[in-house]
Amino acid sequence: MTDGDYRHVYIVIEHEDGRLLQVSLEMLGEARRMMDDFNKRYSSKEKVVAVLLGSNVGEVPKILIAHGADAVVCADSPELRHVRNTIFTKVISQISLDKGIAEKVEPEYAPQFKRPRYLFFGADSIGRHLSATVMAELESGLASDINKLVVADLQITHQNKTGGKPITYDKTLEMYRPDFSGFLWTTILCLDNKNPALQKDYHPQACSIIPGVFEVPKEDSTRSGTVIEYSPRFDEKDLLVKIIDRKVIKSEIDFDSAKAVVSFGRGVKDSPEENIKMIESLASEIGAQIGITLPLSKRPFSVSQSIDSTYLIPDRVIGISGRKVSPKVYFAIGISGAMQHIAGMRDSELVIAINPDEDAAIKNECDIFVRGRMEDVVPVFLEELKKQRQVVQA
Ligand SMILES: Cc1cc2nc3c(=O)[nH]c(=O)nc-3n(C[C@H](O)[C@H](O)[C@H](O)COP(=O)(O)OP(=O)(O)OC[C@H]3O[C@@H](n4cnc5c(N)ncnc54)[C@H](O)[C@@H]3O)c2cc1C
Repeated sequence: MTDGDYRHVYIVIEHEDGRLLQVSLEMLGEARRMMDDFNKRYSSKEKVVAVLLGSNVGEVPKILIAHGADAVVCADSPELRHVRNTIFTKVISQISLDKGIAEKVEPEYAPQFKRPRYLFFGADSIGRHLSATVMAELESGLASDINKLVVADLQITHQNKTGGKPITYDKTLEMYRPDFSGFLWTTILCLDNKNPALQKDYHPQACSIIPGVFEVPKEDSTRSGTVIEYSPRFDEKDLLVKIIDRKVIKSEIDFDSAKAVVSFGRGVKDSPEENIKMIESLASEIGAQIGITLPLSKRPFSVSQSIDSTYLIPDRVIGISGRKVSPKVYFAIGISGAMQHIAGMRDSELVIAINPDEDAAIKNECDIFVRGRMEDVVPVFLEELKKQRQVVQA
């Protein structure tokens, strides 16, 4: 492997008819930070390359450049208007391996170029699916749901990868992932196999990135970049799956206009039916919408049919696997504060957490932490709210 084999970070951009999803800009911001640092450390000129698939994408490439892309590879075709996994996988894989594109991104290294060094996807329902199928196609590894990225030179000794000898892996992407409800960090590496008996390169080093973790960079319309038009190649069999009709289903749970959201998690466990009813009263008293954590949508408790079908449903999940909310007041009741949940409520103005565990991660994410069991704390809140209401009405 030479330094020219693998170059740049490629980022798979998501948008809905030209409306960029926030996670795309967040990935660009993080890639820009990472590659500026990378280029300084390694005296290099590797680029941030946005990969944009769509139909009539208009001004989107300009916006991507203004948010940090050095180049935008634009595959514009009516067949790419909406995501279909088969053809999107094919086109992203084609783009990743295309020397013509590499030539336009950085002519100097184009003859050696094999693949991108790094490849990012959003960790949402589209990006999670695509990342898996693209990386299978490119025969490399994937780290999913990442919330921190570090480039490092690492000395590794591994039975299979290095044949038991210490070998330095340059420019390795350390991909950090919160596991076990965010209580443990796992660092995932995607390493070439340098054991002479099993030699195989694993590039790009790829990951999907949790939405809401990285900041959107400030738009700078004076930035310049290269827009590379790419004509995707399809076979007839790639187009067998057709989109005949498409309906965007609007959720019946309206979090957008709710000024307050009361969410609960596994902390309801001691008496789920009574606790959920108590939370329902609190929400009704302050006119709040009700949210839940992901495990609650898997119906872990035995409760009445009406509670089950009203509250323990995927539509109410707050977080990366569910909804993003930004109310004036957010109650987190019996919620530990895992990163995947926090990403969905981080933009709330005032966060009040109720939890007996002072070490719960939610303590670092809230404005008011009430240490105690919900069974003791929520009734006090309710009583006080009722008193206040009587004073106002009198
Ligand atoms: C790929 C992936 C995606 C995910 N997406 C999401 C997502 O979108 N949204 C999401 O929420 N999670 C998501 N998760 C799960 C997430 O990692 C956590 O496991 C989950 O958020 C934890 O839920 P919890 O806080 O209800 O439960 P726990 O972590 O079990 O926390 C329960 C809390 O209740 C407290 N408690 C106990 N008794 C009481 C009491 N009597 N009164 C008050 N508090 C009490 C405890 O101290 C504890 O802090 C995802 C995980 C993965 C791997």
